[in-house]
Formats: sequence, C-alpha cells, structure tokens
Amino acid sequence: MLKKVLAGVIVVAVAVVALEAQQGGAPAGRGANPQFPTPEKFAASKQAQQHIANAMKIAGSDLQAEAKAFCTPTGPQRVALARQAQGLPALEDRPLEPIKMFENLYYIGFSDVGMWVIPTSDGIILFDALNSGDEGRDMIAGGLKKLGMNPAQIKYLIVGHGHNDHTGGGAYLQSTYKPRVIMGGPDWDTHIKGARADRPSMTRDMVATDGQKVTVGDTTVTVILTPGHTPGTIGMLVPVKHQGRTHTVMILSGTQMPTRQSLASFEHVYNDFAKKQNAEAALGAHPDILMNKLTAMEQMTKAYPTGAHPLLMGPQKFARYLDIMLECGRARLSALES
Ligand SMILES: [Zn+2]
Repeated sequence: MLKKVLAGVIVVAVAVVALEAQQGGAPAGRGANPQFPTPEKFAASKQAQQHIANAMKIAGSDLQAEAKAFCTPTGPQRVALARQAQGLPALEDRPLEPIKMFENLYYIGFSDVGMWVIPTSDGIILFDALNSGDEGRDMIAGGLKKLGMNPAQIKYLIVGHGHNDHTGGGAYLQSTYKPRVIMGGPDWDTHIKGARADRPSMTRDMVATDGQKVTVGDTTVTVILTPGHTPGTIGMLVPVKHQGRTHTVMILSGTQMPTRQSLASFEHVYNDFAKKQNAEAALGAHPDILMNKLTAMEQMTKAYPTGAHPLLMGPQKFARYLDIMLECGRARLSALES
C-alpha cells in the first residue's frame, strides 16, 4: 500500500518537473519563473498597465477574450500547467484520431500535445515529433498510414523547439525514413546533450534560419525564428487550402518573449513575414493556447467544415491578434524589468 502511494507521489513529482522543464521555467520546488513577472509586479507596473490598455483598445469588441487571455502575467498556458498552478487534478492526456484541420494540414497526437502533417505533391513535411520513439512509430508513422499517406514520403521534419514533447519521435523518424531535419541551432545543442539510452537524440542536420524557405513539390513553407520559450524556438508559415483557396496560417512553438531581443524577433517575424503573407490564424502543438481549441478540433474530427473555416479570421483581424500578442508581451517585459 505504502509502496503504491509512494509510487503515485513520485509519478506526480516527475510530471511536475517535466511540465516545468517544458515551460522552460525554474526547477520544481523553487519559486518564481524568471520568464514571467509575478502577478503583483504585473499589476503594479504603470508601463505594463499602459500596454494592457493598448491591447484592449486594439481588441475592440471582437478580440476581447483573446486580449484577456494574452495579457496575463504568464500569457495563455498549457491546460495542464494552468490546472497544476490552480491545484486542480491533472486531466488524462487522451490520444486523438488524426484530425484534418485544412485540406493539406493534419494534426496527429493527444489532447495535450500533437504534431503537424503537410502533404504536398511530392512528399510530406512534418512539424514536431511527439514524445517518444514508440509514438513516432505508432502515432506518427501509424497515423500517416491511417490517413492514406506513406511515411517513406516524409521529406522534412521541422522541429519547433528542443523539448522532449516535440523531439521524442524524431530519432525514430530520422533513422527510419531519412528526412532532412531542421531545428534552431541552440536547440540542436541542448537536444544532443540531453540524449539518454532510452531517449536517443537525432543526428544534427540543418540549422533553421530566419525566413528560410522549405519547398517540397507544390508547397513552400517559411521558417521563422521566435526565440523565447527556448533560445532556438522556431515556427513556420504554411499555405493551407480550404475550398479551392489558399490561406496562410502560422504555426508557433512558443509565445514567450522574456527579453527585449526575444520581443524584437517576434516583432520582426509578425510584421515582416506573417502580416506580409496575409496570415489569418495561429496554431500551436498544445491545443487551447492559440486558435486551435480542443473543442473545435474535436468538432473537425467529426466533420471537416463545409462553409467558412472556423480557424481563419481574415488577414486584418489577425494582424490585430498579432499586435495584441506583442502588446501583452511588452506588458510582461515592462513588469519583469520594473
Ligand atoms: Zn517546451
């Protein structure tokens, strides 16, 4: 009995450490996360409050909920972390059926974390690789087969950042299907240093560069550098198809902007890439942080949208969504510096 209880406690402790590590924060058991201001500092900083007021103004009447979610001391958090912070019991991380999010963009994974699949006319681009080699084999390669795709056609694996919930299946995919692998330079280093017998690292391949174009067949994605969650965090802009038209969506792997340099990178990629390419949506590997809410995703599992796509807000509204993220990032930075 005692053994069982102890085992339970250890599992919980390990889960907490893992979540905090993924968040890039302080180790468990130590106070504040240096990436985020305390709620007290956030409320007390006049400059922070000015940025929040700006964000609310940009939000108008149609982006209020988004602005409220972004303009908090931490910004939108993974559901698992938010529940942990509130002392609520953990939710079970359920495997989902592969989800067709757009005609050429699929989500494979769990309710808490997933990865993205972009089929093209001449092969497949993947973004992220779930938690483990087993998941790389069973969920990613298995999921592609379920979708009628051939994993031997994987041409690129692009990895958003070096934490294990995005790299775990990478070594299996790289050694089995030989895709080119792209990751941020600093995250290649931490990924390779973090290799263990039960968690082999990928072999170093391409280092992501700002604005890098990756073309497979008829599809070109643009890699964007968004350091903050980790020093090598990257995202990409993807042309997605819906009912005969092409739209741009942005896939992000972290939204933290904890330094002036990080904020400047986000300002640059939002203004010089996302807005110029008329991006209309932001999606993340962890549902419920950006626009891919779990409930909407599960709805799409049942039926692909026949009318207007619920995840496309149009370029003008989305430009305001990006400006809100930046103002809320500036608010956190001002409070951190105060
Ligand atoms: Zn992470």
